Amino acid sequence: MAQKYDAVIVGAGISGCGVAALLSRAGKKVLLLERTKLIGGRASSYKYKGHTLNIGEHAGIRDGYLDTLVQAVGQKIPDRGFFEDYLIWRNGKFEKAFDIVPKLNPEEMERVVRTVQEATPEVMGKYDAISGAELFSPMVKNPENWYMLNLIGAIWNTIPNIENQAASSVIEAMRTASRSTLAGFQAAHGIGDYSRTISQVVKECGGEILTEAPVAEILVKNRRVVGVRVEREAKHDVMHDYPIGEVFTVEAPLVVTAIPIWTVFNLISEKMFSSEFVKKAKHLNKLTANLGFMVGLKKPLFNEKLFVMADLPTLGYPTTIFISSNLCPTLSPKGEHLLECSCICEFELGEDRGLVLRKLQEMKDDLEKLYPGWQKKVIWIRPYFRWEEPARTPGRDGIFKPGPKAPEIEGLYFAGDSVNSRITPGMECAADSAMICARAILGKLPEVKPAVKPKAGKKSQPGKTGKAGKKSKKR
Ligand SMILES: Cc1cc2nc3c(=O)[nH]c(=O)nc-3n(C[C@H](O)[C@H](O)[C@H](O)COP(=O)(O)OP(=O)(O)OC[C@H]3O[C@@H](n4cnc5c(N)ncnc54)[C@H](O)[C@@H]3O)c2cc1C
Repeated sequence: MAQKYDAVIVGAGISGCGVAALLSRAGKKVLLLERTKLIGGRASSYKYKGHTLNIGEHAGIRDGYLDTLVQAVGQKIPDRGFFEDYLIWRNGKFEKAFDIVPKLNPEEMERVVRTVQEATPEVMGKYDAISGAELFSPMVKNPENWYMLNLIGAIWNTIPNIENQAASSVIEAMRTASRSTLAGFQAAHGIGDYSRTISQVVKECGGEILTEAPVAEILVKNRRVVGVRVEREAKHDVMHDYPIGEVFTVEAPLVVTAIPIWTVFNLISEKMFSSEFVKKAKHLNKLTANLGFMVGLKKPLFNEKLFVMADLPTLGYPTTIFISSNLCPTLSPKGEHLLECSCICEFELGEDRGLVLRKLQEMKDDLEKLYPGWQKKVIWIRPYFRWEEPARTPGRDGIFKPGPKAPEIEGLYFAGDSVNSRITPGMECAADSAMICARAILGKLPEVKPAVKPKAGKKSQPGKTGKAGKKSKKR
């Protein structure tokens, strides 16, 4: 007999953990299913040579949507360390970010700020369709103003040029920047600590979290969601002559997918939706990427809690550099330090492995210009290239994203940074989308009160007991 839940959430990134925790707080019995070993999705962390590494550079924002979500589920904000200053490196020298302010043209800046302030939701809908350059170039002529606008857009939207960013996303980036001056942080125990903290609520309220449990199908009867089928990977180990996979179904009248929207069609036939909806969802499948490396150091390159933004001359992509262990010594073993250096680049770069390796080498060489001799301090280097966020190009943000409720299928909802929310950057967007989704399901967010565990009874975990489902053989 299949296990029964009030709601199944597919994917344990920030958005999935958020929806799962909010529904749990509202008294629903929730099952959160994650296909990998890690809770946190793209905002996960793991241990490496005694350091805690994020799967790629992750800076959060104080008092934003992520903090609101943590508080909305009744949890304490995880420990973190804050950046204390922001430096820009361009034309071969460092300058403080705030020293650019006097070089800005105040009249032009005022026009930009007014445009940002006056952008109502209706106007934002129009700005979703045009680029930041189209909106702002008629009002911004001063090169320093243009540089600043481009930089803010690039950092928060993860797209190198304002020409490719939706105007609405540039506005959201400006709003984020004005909310978060000097409020960027590093999580003291890795960014995955946020999703872990949020998802704890699920268990406290009597629900379950299963990792390494990929959902293979969303089950629908008469246009109503009835549950999901999970297909656990076959495990290769000495106990089995040939690998055995595990298949089980879970019954639930409510399923929330918290995965990129275009991947939902791997779980439910696109024939269930209108061709217009399918086209809209698939159109969002354009990605931005993050290329960089985590570095274990014998000595830090600098001692300050600095966030450095660099125009690296050879690499040619906006790059950020910081010593995260300066902000959070908890991230590194005693006597060692953690450098994070990464750039925003096109996802298509990843199609050419040789080019990725060349860009990483250019990043290392360029870093030599900022911090001569830095490589002598290195203990290890861990390079990475990852897709970061759905690209907020014109025609792909705001009104172009699907809402939280699936059309045409009762009981199916969506969350994640590819749906609902315009907020930038990604973690903020994912957290906002979780709250939008929970509101759409519950009518309002649950009141924060101590978690109540349902009465103790016989509890069996789906996929763990013989009765929960049938086993299948996989080769
Ligand atoms: C390298 C890198 C750097 C970044 N830097 C920043 C930053 O500095 N600041 C910032 O705000 N944002 C940053 N982001 C973006 C941010 O991490 C994401 O926008 C955010 O975490 C997305 O959360 P999500 O819940 O929408 O999706 P995800 O985190 O992608 O979660 C989806 C989850 O669903 C799981 N899943 C998928 N399919 C299935 C299935 N069939 N069954 C079960 N589970 C499934 C996935 O394994 C995953 O865990 C960065 C991202 C990357 C990759």
